[in-house]
Amino acid sequence: MSAVKIDGRKVSAEIKDELISSVKDLKEKGINPTLAVVLVGNDPASQVYVKHKKKACEYVGIRSLAYELDENTSEDELLKLVNELNTRDDVHGILVQLPLPKHIDEEKILLAIDPSKDVDGFHPYSVGNLSIGRDGFVSCTPAGIIELIKRYNIEIEGKNCVVIGRSNIVGKPVSMLLLRENGTVTICHSRTKNIKEICKQADILVVAIGRANFVTKDFIKEGATVIDVGMNRLDNGKLCGDVSYDECATIAGAITPVPGGVGPMTIAMLMNNCVKSAGKCLT
Ligand code: NAP
Repeated sequence: MSAVKIDGRKVSAEIKDELISSVKDLKEKGINPTLAVVLVGNDPASQVYVKHKKKACEYVGIRSLAYELDENTSEDELLKLVNELNTRDDVHGILVQLPLPKHIDEEKILLAIDPSKDVDGFHPYSVGNLSIGRDGFVSCTPAGIIELIKRYNIEIEGKNCVVIGRSNIVGKPVSMLLLRENGTVTICHSRTKNIKEICKQADILVVAIGRANFVTKDFIKEGATVIDVGMNRLDNGKLCGDVSYDECATIAGAITPVPGGVGPMTIAMLMNNCVKSAGKCLT
């Protein structure tokens, strides 16, 4: 049996198409959804991410304001810009692209963003809301994972969910989200013992560790859903996940490929968060 391939490109395109009409509705009501994207320095990967984000905004109809600042921008200058964007009524989302140059304290900048515009969901206030089950912005990759699972009609409630990885940007928030969906959640990390046996109990296995092909078919329960968050660049330049796709697909019920699985969902969920933030202006 071969697993269903969970197509993140298709789902991401569906979400962006749905958002086009939400944006149109907001515009008809006098709200022009706007995302401010702040990039400091010349990191090539960050420049590519920012370009993709601007393109997605254009597609969906969100206005994007680009702030591309010099590498030598001081922490105070950046804080001043964030504070200015916080106070602007015509800005609904603020995204400061990470990583920042070493002389700037990332945490200080993230803390400065008004939580009501924290569309990346990295502010401790947003993280706190997620853990106590209150409404708020959820970071985009974890939110995208749950959306993928739901759109493939895979039940989370009552299922054994195992997450490998406990980072603040993926492992922990996706675990909280699976719990919120009434899954029974186990979190594994680099000190976990018997990881293979734990994974083998999983109805839903989410892998976010950053190690190419770490998960092999002997980790997988027959029919399980396998979500591979890993993005690893091999020596030959190819992108590969944390899960050995071909062999795991012979046992899993559904599985995400890399590329084309979780990756495309992140930007779609960012657009979703911006539209959600702009929509709050109606209430
Ligand atoms: P990270 O901050 O480096 O965290 C890695 C986690 O994996 C840590 O909790 C670590 O455990 C755990 N780990 C490492 N080796 C392990 C092992 N051998 N066995 C069990 N656990 C192990 O990474 P991240 O930021 O969460 O990212 C993980 C992967 O997802 C990366 O490949 C990244 O590129 C990718 N990613 C993709 C997207 C996307 O698709 N949009 C977004 C974000 C990240 P300890 O805590 O014990 O050290």
